Amino acid sequence: MAQIYDRVALIGMGLIASSMAHAMRRDGLAGQIVGYARSAETRDIAREIGLCDHVTESAAEAAEGADLVVLCVPVGAMETVAREIGPVLKPGATISDVGSVKRTVIDAVGPYVPEGVHFIPAHPLAGTEHSGPRSGFAELFDQRYTIIVPVEGSAPAAVDRLADLWRGMGALVEEMDAEHHDLVLAVTSHTPHLIAYTMVGVADDLRRVTDSEVIKYSAAGFRDFTRIAASDPVMWRDVFLNNKEATLEILGRFTEELFALQRAIRQEDGDHLHAYFTRTRAIRRGIIEAGQDTDAPDFGRKKVRKE
Ligand code: NAP
Repeated sequence: MAQIYDRVALIGMGLIASSMAHAMRRDGLAGQIVGYARSAETRDIAREIGLCDHVTESAAEAAEGADLVVLCVPVGAMETVAREIGPVLKPGATISDVGSVKRTVIDAVGPYVPEGVHFIPAHPLAGTEHSGPRSGFAELFDQRYTIIVPVEGSAPAAVDRLADLWRGMGALVEEMDAEHHDLVLAVTSHTPHLIAYTMVGVADDLRRVTDSEVIKYSAAGFRDFTRIAASDPVMWRDVFLNNKEATLEILGRFTEELFALQRAIRQEDGDHLHAYFTRTRAIRRGIIEAGQDTDAPDFGRKKVRKE
């Protein structure tokens, strides 16, 4: 694929930024990739592993002269970074982000985007529980959706160019407005993470009673929760503080459904439970049919090949 931007600046060099760097390099999508992260430690690692062409000592230095600047920091840090780089953004450049919440990021970053610079928020729906500059890999976005959330006045040509970059990195691209994005993500990602955090927390409390049984006999369901609950605490703190309303709305519905299931168990209402689980099984089938997961059994065991 042809080069799409001459100079791309990645502010923050964690899982998402490092995956973007690898994916852009894989297909030669950027002439030059420049990166910046807050700590000297992360910057040193990025230099050591050759993540970018150039690692700078400030966010402004990275953003200066860039055609595309992507904010890859936790949602709560977006405003600070935008304030710093706003004055150096070059006319005609695009500033984007990869934050997991869109409304508050738009409100926080928007005021610092100068006239003549395109602000086009985005969110790749791809991740792992790992973080930091070593955790990225080029395939992270392959066949995963990236939601582009154009704001008022986003120039269509600039939106198309950013969409081309994400497609070049392997992603499927869709557009949505910020409110819809935040509600959809509250259902598909944010509330499930909160439930995983809670379940692992409860099991941890229980461990004090049952010693190490929770770990020793950890079955697939619990293990899946522990993987999700190992995600970066700063990122997820910021997600909940910034997608407060949608998450609380979905949690309210979740609680009602949980009570209904609790009542069905108490009243031994097998029909209710069976109907409910039949419905949820169909949702899983739909995800597999949409190519967003496979149905290969995976119990966390190493693959043993029988000759
Ligand atoms: P990460 O691996 O924890 O990396 C975060 C990066 O941001 C680090 O390089 C960190 O620098 C830097 N940073 C933090 N605060 C900063 C500040 N004030 N100024 C400059 N740099 C700062 O995080 P990530 O998983 O890549 O997430 C980045 C963004 O992508 C978040 O907004 C998140 O919501 C979004 N996102 C995450 C996922 C996911 O599954 N992980 C998926 C989609 C979108 P130091 O290392 O020096 O602290």
